[in-house]
Amino acid sequence: MTHPSLKLHEPVGDEVKTTTCYMCACRCGIKVHLKDGKVRYIQGNPDHPVNRGVICAKGSAGIMQHYSPARLRKPLLRTGERGKGEFREIEWDEALALATQWLGDIRKRNPDELAFFTGRDQSQALTGWWAQQFGTINYAAHGGFCSVNMAAAGMYTLGGSFWEFGEPDWDHTRYLLMFGVAEDHDSNPIKLGLGKLKQRGAKVLAINPVRTGYAAIADEWLGIRPGSDGLFVGALVQELLRNDWVDFDYLVRYTNAHYLVVRNPGGADDGLFARDAEGRALCWTRAGVAMPADAIGIAPVVVGEFTLADGRRAVPAFQLLAERFLAADYSPERAAEQCGIEAATIRRIAREIADAAFREEIRLPQRWTDAWGRTHEEMIGRPVSLHAMRGIAAHSNGFHTCRLLHVLQMLLGAIDTPGSFRYQPPYPKGVPPANRPGKSRKPDGTLDAGPLGYVHAPEDLLVDANGEPRRIDKAFSWQHPLAVHGMLQNVIANAVAGDPQRIDTLFLFMANMSWNSAMNTTRTRRLLVEKDADGVYKIPRIIYVDAYASEMVEFADLVLPDTTYLERYDCISLLDRPISDADGASDAIRHPIARPDRDVRAFQDVLLDLGARLGLPGCVREDGSPRYPDGFAQYMVEHERAPGVGMLAGWRGRDGSREGTGEPNPQQLDRYKEHGAFWHAEVPAAGRYYKMANRDYLEWARGLGFVGSTHAQVIELYSERLQRFRLAALGHGAVQPPARERERVARYFDPLPFWYAPFEWEQTDLARYPLAAITQRPMFMYHSWGSQNAWLRQITARNFLYLHPQTAQALDLRDDDWVWVESPHGRIRVPVRCHSGTEPGTVWTWNALGKRRGAWKLASDAPESQQGFLLNHVISELLPPRADGYRYANADPVTGQAAWFDLRVRVDKAAVESEDSGLTPHRIEVARA
Ligand code: SF4
Repeated sequence: MTHPSLKLHEPVGDEVKTTTCYMCACRCGIKVHLKDGKVRYIQGNPDHPVNRGVICAKGSAGIMQHYSPARLRKPLLRTGERGKGEFREIEWDEALALATQWLGDIRKRNPDELAFFTGRDQSQALTGWWAQQFGTINYAAHGGFCSVNMAAAGMYTLGGSFWEFGEPDWDHTRYLLMFGVAEDHDSNPIKLGLGKLKQRGAKVLAINPVRTGYAAIADEWLGIRPGSDGLFVGALVQELLRNDWVDFDYLVRYTNAHYLVVRNPGGADDGLFARDAEGRALCWTRAGVAMPADAIGIAPVVVGEFTLADGRRAVPAFQLLAERFLAADYSPERAAEQCGIEAATIRRIAREIADAAFREEIRLPQRWTDAWGRTHEEMIGRPVSLHAMRGIAAHSNGFHTCRLLHVLQMLLGAIDTPGSFRYQPPYPKGVPPANRPGKSRKPDGTLDAGPLGYVHAPEDLLVDANGEPRRIDKAFSWQHPLAVHGMLQNVIANAVAGDPQRIDTLFLFMANMSWNSAMNTTRTRRLLVEKDADGVYKIPRIIYVDAYASEMVEFADLVLPDTTYLERYDCISLLDRPISDADGASDAIRHPIARPDRDVRAFQDVLLDLGARLGLPGCVREDGSPRYPDGFAQYMVEHERAPGVGMLAGWRGRDGSREGTGEPNPQQLDRYKEHGAFWHAEVPAAGRYYKMANRDYLEWARGLGFVGSTHAQVIELYSERLQRFRLAALGHGAVQPPARERERVARYFDPLPFWYAPFEWEQTDLARYPLAAITQRPMFMYHSWGSQNAWLRQITARNFLYLHPQTAQALDLRDDDWVWVESPHGRIRVPVRCHSGTEPGTVWTWNALGKRRGAWKLASDAPESQQGFLLNHVISELLPPRADGYRYANADPVTGQAAWFDLRVRVDKAAVESEDSGLTPHRIEVARA
């Protein structure tokens, strides 16, 4: 048989440029092949530390994002009623003059009347800084509706997080537990890592209501009921405690498990650590005396109750943990009832992870020095890793569930040891990191700190004299004190209600808030066009920035068209969301490799231009001239957050010889371009594990400006910080919550993690709404910013409601039948498909496949609008009213994380109107409740 002769190595272009992918959050290195200046082909960059040459479906389909017919072409000014999509094209001068006038008036009057919210962009180091220069507290990005529970629980527990701030030790782990992971931010590194685990025969266990994505290649899948993960983990904790499968040495070395907690019910010191005169937390020792808990050469005890020298009673934090988790509430039998996983299975999993941790201990012959100066000849590790993401985060109990995962890691001694979860530099950065959210304006109108940060104590909250929220999204208020990413999902409803205040302008960047990024999409679209009695829109002005004709465009008054990611400078900064791996710190750039063929401008350039026109202090020189007339590229090189600290860590110093910190280097971007558009610095071999207490690591990290000192960072099994909020709610301290918030704060600011039923379970008639409903994006679209792509839509352009075959049988349903999915908030008619990889009490669908007819330049009969649907229509952004009528956000009470996956529904067979066409449009009926 003869084969056709194929020229496999024929060059596809005449030029190859390296840059960074923007098709999802992973930010892989790519090589873009061009011919006559046109993009022809995109491949992975084999030299890049993130993906090492791997490219996914999204990344290679970037070419279609670049040439998408949905690209906006020119600034637009609304001419008709808002929401009708009637615009006229205008010149940039007119667009920027208008925006300057609107924003300038606000800044003179009250900068907080600007709500500046960004979606899934990766420019928060710039946009947050700009908001600070403008002086508004009302700024956030999309984390609040994504996975902030995961980030916040991690930062407030171990000073790092799963997300993209840590990773499993792919080279040594022998047992990986993945909770609620679909695809993920660390997309290609996880694929590479799973490949290593499969080669080595390590066990991969997926705990997830749906078996798709990475779970599809897991060795074992546990179909857990949504919202019950915390109870499952609590039962594992009970088994570890009951069998003494605990690494006590690790606990007393690296965590606060041995710290003495004062037992003084009703007292102002109840639940706080006992401290000596210098303020050092104390522990009880086998010598029968209290000693500073961070002293070396002592033998702390972790159970018992003791009398301090001043007569107060105190117990080690671990004792409190054991009291809680050895109780019947966390027995495998109790967990089995809620989780849908048999008690015997829970016990087996506990035994398996204990065996992996303690019988397969890893010893690496690597000398290292701990933070106290002691030298160790080996690095000893527990090869059990955890990874978790949105599936457990997007619940009203997500913060404590995520903290529970970290407690499980602590008990196993499996945080940053060989074989376990590992921090990625610059983390750990303190528990929590030091930066607090800005609260007040300085004389020049700028905010005293960036608008987002970490609240350390009640004094840091953004509340007024009555304790009521100051921010439009109610982040950092007593309702959601640790809302470290803000609460984008609440902005529109709150702004329209004037609760807590009215705003003048909503400035959105890449946030599709009228469609798949909104809870209760239909109501949100109504709110966006709602007017006062005098005919003025309740949100008077909306400025929207996007590269594409997304559903949000039609609601804008002024549209500023962005470039594609191949046409602009971008900065993947360590000040923002880093792309490091556990063995090295990295940052990267994007740079224009194609010229726009439309009248569009990079948003980063536009923001700096607007800042200069507004005279924002950081954007102008002393003489009032623009500080960055050449735009974001100039800012990336010259801007310093602190002396020597800039957006990029590579090739700093006038001659480019410094790393981490140093003077701006005018040639810096050239160096990046020569080096594949990234910078990477290896962690020294002696600093690769125990980063929270490893002098070799901490000195390296301090040298690069990541940490301020080489003191050990203590992992917090017990959160004294949360207890201070609880004490405030109980009437102690200078800053206390208003009366109506006290019970809620006292309950949810528990210093130890706990499991409680998601709010919708408690507030919904579960007999009427017996099924949980969740969504996820398909792997080939996960976190893809553009949301619509000509190649990717050929894989899937419509979605179904998936349910287990047994569930379908009970409801007399077959593939392609139509059903009503009804929640307490409305109902939607959709087609179904059976899927045996679904937990029988759960239904689910792909999110964001459904598109609004007319959006994204899709044909009017495109399957996305005719057959695709959003479950968002039946999710409420508010919880049912309290007794006094007040409605809290449908969110976690600690962090404000949107509780997307608390949704409860019923499913009923629906009549089909045009069975022959197969094109029956879905129908939506909402807001009945
Ligand atoms: S889409 Fe994401 S995972 Fe895929 S190549 Fe691009 S950055 Fe990497």
